[in-house]
Amino acid sequence: MERLSNSMARLQMPGADFNRNELIQCLSELVQLDEKWIPQGEGYSLYIRPTVIATHKFLGLAAPDSLLLYVITSPVGPYYKSGFNPIRLTADTSYVRAWPGGTGDSKVGGNYAPTMKPAADAAKHGYSQVLWLFGENDEITEVGAMNVFFYLINKETGKPELVTAPLTRGDILPGVTRQSILDLCRSWGDFDVSERFATMPEIREAANDNRLLEVFGAGTAAVVSPVSCIQYKGKDIDIPAVGEVTQRVWDEITGIQYGKTEGPPGWSIPVDAKIVNKQS
Ligand SMILES: *Cc1c(COP(=O)(O)O)cnc(C)c1O
Repeated sequence: MERLSNSMARLQMPGADFNRNELIQCLSELVQLDEKWIPQGEGYSLYIRPTVIATHKFLGLAAPDSLLLYVITSPVGPYYKSGFNPIRLTADTSYVRAWPGGTGDSKVGGNYAPTMKPAADAAKHGYSQVLWLFGENDEITEVGAMNVFFYLINKETGKPELVTAPLTRGDILPGVTRQSILDLCRSWGDFDVSERFATMPEIREAANDNRLLEVFGAGTAAVVSPVSCIQYKGKDIDIPAVGEVTQRVWDEITGIQYGKTEGPPGWSIPVDAKIVNKQS
């Protein structure tokens, strides 16, 4: 709700300060109405997508004065039908997804249409998604429409570290899955967790030294999406098969989603719960 609100504010949409709890209450009622559409079985789910479009009756460049906020629900099947399906990435693109001061940190349509051509070009060369870089040092930002995590042995500390890009510059989409993984992994306390920019030269060096242990994308649809290869400057960097951190994150998050484990307070909302209707 907060991200929807921030994205609306970025587009100068009125009503960006809508009542979050009221919308969650609406979603709960919608899910109960659509109950028969919730598919049964492990891996199946009801996708819920709140959307906002302008309905301003005016042809011209102006902030909208009216909006439609609607919610799409759709039954979806398992993302992985028979175990993880690691993806191959290319970092060799001249295109840029987002930049400081842009809209990369907002979920707005304009971010996505321009990624179709780079993705199609990547597919032509046998890579399923683009690893988006930024800046002279080839800082790693995101993969396709997912956040990206690297699990490696840090050269300086010699300790295992989970790394993902920080939200400070405004070019990273603040994924809920990203935040969930950061919170979970910090709560385990088994390895360092850093929000910092890893660069492609650093990752290449880590791979050459056998310090690169796991790479995965993270987003709602896949939860985690293991990466088996990254093309960089014409060479493929191979990454070991699905590792224990990727697997553990998957087990924990899907366990919480299916109600097998409780998870931290506030992560799950029973749909028949009456939500206290106060502005957050
Ligand atoms: C939606 C999206 C994500 C993932 O966000 P979740 O809230 O985890 O689904 C990451 N990066 C981009 C560019 C996205 O559009």
